[in-house]
Amino acid sequence: MIRNTLRPALAAAAFLALTASGAAPSFGFRLIQNTTIGRVSAGNLVTCTDPGGFTHWANSNINWFLNTAGQGAGKATALQNALASWTNVASADHTLTYAGTTAAGWATDGQNTVLWANGNGCTGSCLALTALVLQAGQVIVETDITFNAAYAWQTNGTDYDTEAVATHELGHTLGIHHTELTSTPQPTMAAIYFGNGGRTLEADDIAALQCAQSRYPFSARQGMTWAKVSHESVYGTDKVGCAGCNPYVGDTSCSSALPILCIAPDGAPTPSGITTDFYNGWIGGNIGLTPAVQGTQLTSIAAANARCQGFFGSGWQMAEFHHPLGAWYWSSRGNINNASRFWVYINDQPANCWN
Ligand SMILES: [Zn+2]
Repeated sequence: MIRNTLRPALAAAAFLALTASGAAPSFGFRLIQNTTIGRVSAGNLVTCTDPGGFTHWANSNINWFLNTAGQGAGKATALQNALASWTNVASADHTLTYAGTTAAGWATDGQNTVLWANGNGCTGSCLALTALVLQAGQVIVETDITFNAAYAWQTNGTDYDTEAVATHELGHTLGIHHTELTSTPQPTMAAIYFGNGGRTLEADDIAALQCAQSRYPFSARQGMTWAKVSHESVYGTDKVGCAGCNPYVGDTSCSSALPILCIAPDGAPTPSGITTDFYNGWIGGNIGLTPAVQGTQLTSIAAANARCQGFFGSGWQMAEFHHPLGAWYWSSRGNINNASRFWVYINDQPANCWN
């Protein structure tokens, strides 16, 4: 996904042949396929219907930060315009938000950052490079863009145009690869820089994001939820469990807002009056519910644990499906509100909103 400055002669020849034909425009967009868990800057070019799927976001709201070191100064408007171009795509719910400046860099740190540097794998004819941080299921959970500081970056429309290249790289951060279309007007996702025309998304770019979202619709994603079954006042314990959940693919739309069941394990022994078996376990510790949170905000178990810690303090984490004996139901100390179901995760099935 390196963006280069020079156009190969062969590509120019193909471009002329296509425009001379006068054929109706057809789509040539490709998506990034990469099943690696971790940080990547490459992937296979695949079509939207490829059986192996492609990289995509599980949450619709994506916050972006600008590192103003070096040439990053004075680039906020260019970045905001580029973010808006993708946010404004019709029939696609990705919202790319400018979240301010940062000192963060080209690192897996939970923050999406645009920065300028010499290096980061982008030198020579490379103008800019995107990294994706992937989880299971080709879910993008973080991304960064590094601009090559060896070039002079402009905001007045001359080369090299910051907004045009930012718009291109942001396409990569959404899981879109280089297009194979060579007709004019050139799509922003053309592999080679072609001036400030890249600021504007073309039909091919727009179709790429729309197709990606129709393949991985936010509304269709489901997370597993549990319910409170009973409270045993004698022991001060709650029994919680599946109660009709689906631990294999989830049961509740990730667009729903529900509390997270959190637990602070302490290894306390099973109270003598509580009977356990494979389906009814005991987890020593305290449980509690956070305020309701939209499932799409739960982009990873780390993000979910952070919600628990933010509300209850250190030592808390999102509750999980299994217990030391088995799964499905378990008891712990607490007396949680039983007004609604709540998010619980499962560590060996794709039934979480981040899967
Ligand atoms: Zn590129």
